[in-house]
Amino acid sequence: MPGFELFSDLERKEVHDVLDNGVLMRYGFDGMRNGHWKAKALESELSKTFQSKHVQLVSSGTAAVSVALASVGIGAGDEIIMPTFTFVASFEAIMMLGAIPVLVDIDDTLTLDPKAVEAAITPKTKGVMVVQMCGSMGDMDALKSVCDKHNLIFVEDACQAIGGSYKGQPLGSIADLGCFSFDFVKTITCGEGGAVVTNNKDYYINSNHYSDHGHDHIGNDRGAETHPFLGYNFRISELHAAVGLAQVRRLPEFIAIQKKNYSIIRDALSQISEVTFRRVPEGGEESYAFLNFFLPDAESGLKVAEAFKTNGIDVCWNYYHNNWHYIRKWDHLKELKSLFPISKEVKEGLQYLKTKTFEQSDHFIARNISCLIKLSWTEEEVKLRAEKMVKVIMEHI
Ligand SMILES: *Cc1c(COP(=O)(O)O)cnc(C)c1O
Repeated sequence: MPGFELFSDLERKEVHDVLDNGVLMRYGFDGMRNGHWKAKALESELSKTFQSKHVQLVSSGTAAVSVALASVGIGAGDEIIMPTFTFVASFEAIMMLGAIPVLVDIDDTLTLDPKAVEAAITPKTKGVMVVQMCGSMGDMDALKSVCDKHNLIFVEDACQAIGGSYKGQPLGSIADLGCFSFDFVKTITCGEGGAVVTNNKDYYINSNHYSDHGHDHIGNDRGAETHPFLGYNFRISELHAAVGLAQVRRLPEFIAIQKKNYSIIRDALSQISEVTFRRVPEGGEESYAFLNFFLPDAESGLKVAEAFKTNGIDVCWNYYHNNWHYIRKWDHLKELKSLFPISKEVKEGLQYLKTKTFEQSDHFIARNISCLIKLSWTEEEVKLRAEKMVKVIMEHI
């Protein structure tokens, strides 16, 4: 997945353009920049890539989620439904606004189960956030119809699925708002960065102002701009945007490499009848950033993950036993370990995590192995890796 594996003169040239005139900030300084507007250029490139009318770059994927939610007016005491399997950023971004993350089960897509979503709706629910984990997607039609039926905002975190699609539409462009991360390990990287994409002009304008201290961005005198509402600073810098600009132009090349490497490994693992693969909803095409497969039971899931490690097969994880991506190990959330006081609504709203169990999610995550697909592997290396994986799996099921 990580685009940094293939940094080239293309990235260097874009960064040099910025350093040559010295304007590292994305807004203002029109006279000094010699026509270089890297953040603007990247937004327009992303708008084409993700077939979305509006793109607002921000400083990270986590910021993108907060900005997206803020731009539709989500805040104190509102409930946002999100999956048990995701990155910690999902609940961080929700809680930053004083809203309450309501975690619900995933299904064999490794993303939100539409039935679990519907069951979790309360009068306080304002939105549903699907997280397109590990290069694939949720049942977008089913999730969208739940949101439509209950009049909820639908948000799509496509940070890990850059370049995937559903019924011909790029992931991230399907819901009311999409969020992307371009941090150092994502398929295209800025070093640090993120984006909110939407076809809704009001959400875009709100994102645009909110991510830059509420500035209205009218005219070309920053000091004279007014503040229609309170904002914050989630700006991206020109240096970061410059790297991303080179990277996004290379996305088709990256996806083609991922697909090739993914297919070699998947074909090899398909020979093992006990191995099954995550379900990709009909009409969906993965980004091939990861290969996810299931073993027959939790025990073989753990055994194979450990055997991969001892046999030198890296970048494969069983997230049931990993601190990153699954509710089971998020004690800091369950115990609300915060540096500062948390609002009463959020405290009460998160009580359920002290007792709630997620058997359906456990059933999928404990048996799952998620393997990163790297861009820098040679064909020889991928074939060797695939052979080794088959051998290790056969020995441990
Ligand atoms: C990486 C990631 C984020 C957060 O992105 P940052 O840019 O690191 O803040 C959010 N959601 C998911 C699913 C991610 O993988």
